[in-house]
Amino acid sequence: MFQQRLDDLAHRSLLRRLRTIESASDAAVTIDGRSLILMASNNYLGLAAHPAVKRAAIQAIERYGVGAGAARLVSGTLPPHEELESELAKFKGTEAALVFGSGYLANLGVIPALIGADGQIFADRLCHASLIDGCRLSGASLRVYRHNDVEHVKSLLAKRRTARETLIVTDGVFSMDGDLAPLPDLIGLADRYGAQLFVDDAHGTGVMGAQGRGTVEHFGLEDRVPFHMGTLGKALGTSGAYVAGPAAVITYLINTARTFLFATAPPPATAAATIAALQIVRTDPARRARLWENRHYLFAGLTRLGFRLTDSASPILPIVVGDAQKTIAMADRLLDLGVYAPAIRPPTVPKETSRIRATVTSEHSRTQLDQALAAFEQAGREQGVI
Ligand code: PMP
Repeated sequence: MFQQRLDDLAHRSLLRRLRTIESASDAAVTIDGRSLILMASNNYLGLAAHPAVKRAAIQAIERYGVGAGAARLVSGTLPPHEELESELAKFKGTEAALVFGSGYLANLGVIPALIGADGQIFADRLCHASLIDGCRLSGASLRVYRHNDVEHVKSLLAKRRTARETLIVTDGVFSMDGDLAPLPDLIGLADRYGAQLFVDDAHGTGVMGAQGRGTVEHFGLEDRVPFHMGTLGKALGTSGAYVAGPAAVITYLINTARTFLFATAPPPATAAATIAALQIVRTDPARRARLWENRHYLFAGLTRLGFRLTDSASPILPIVVGDAQKTIAMADRLLDLGVYAPAIRPPTVPKETSRIRATVTSEHSRTQLDQALAAFEQAGREQGVI
């Protein structure tokens, strides 16, 4: 039965398979013995293999061992966890912060803690799967609004049952489109209609804003958005996620977020590595400047070649191809030509919007970007994408 289902997926060009990366630096990987330019990673600032980040992890392993051994409330809270949370709170300018094992776990745990079955949620149609799953798990009534359509949110809010608690849920930077949520409008609506706004800033943390504090900083809204969620496995180069906010919210999450309560604490070495990564984000703005220079260079190059990009305003540069099979052919051809940029298909993105999702980092050299653009041009022409 399962084989039949797999055959069906393959027939629709929707079968996925894992690809092993034999070795990786920040900007290149080895696959099947070949070195390829990597344009598939969210390690935007090259911190995953930064010497200071690695050293912090190694030292923490020497001191604390590898695993935390239990959930945080049982016996899993170690000094690196506490220090990381205090550094995250400082970074985000909030009273407190709480770390989760991953972004997926944070969203599954936090949304049901914030709102229950008697509440109502309005979520962007392109929200990350973990947000949608968190919303469903809460039991609240869920209405999906058209992507970034403020008027649609407004009309839903105006028609809602006012006695019920309301949460608006959005990505800060949309993971498969690279565009930004209209946060000024959304916070305005939230204030006006007495709703809360929950922003998942997985791809904004470390990337957006002059200090890298995220999409909320980018829009100058830090004093208006009370709590923030972001991940640690992308620009910060490690793993896990945080929620930063008022002390009462954080204490409430410690007591009620089930994916915090009942999950083994993240490895202390991961927390220690993240403290080191955060320090680099705060003290080395040149890295973020390089990321943005590279992003503008690649964006300009792809646009000049005639590719149809989404409305991206971030280092995520999706090239919309449409048909899933054609997108895979394009990704395969890019691999032949030395570039690893993945094909993204339904259900990750809506039907007929399959795309190549190219990401750029601070660590790509100008030569690598030029080589990548040459490969995109050749593959694009051969596949009839440009
Ligand atoms: N939210 C968004 C917007 C994401 O892109 C991702 C990662 N793909 C997650 C949450 C999940 O985070 P993690 O990978 O840490 O589980």
